[in-house]
Amino acid sequence: MDHESCRTLLEGVSLFAEGEAPPELCAEIERHMAGCEHCRIVVDSLRRTIDLYHRLPQPAMPEKAREKLYKSLDLTEYMK
Ligand SMILES: [Zn+2]
Repeated sequence: MDHESCRTLLEGVSLFAEGEAPPELCAEIERHMAGCEHCRIVVDSLRRTIDLYHRLPQPAMPEKAREKLYKSLDLTEYMK
């Protein structure tokens, strides 16, 4: 396997997995992946990670805000 081209490819792969790579790069990555199982696996797991990330609920309430809220509700004993 041509690991030099893997390295080059993996530099643009996060863009590719996000769907934001320019068309030439997409074509290049797709062409490479067709013959490189290693990169297919990398891209596949990267896509899954990104997908998961996008599905996550909105960022949790900041610790300070939560503390304030709990205090104002007199629920500090539930904060543990
Ligand atoms: Zn590769």
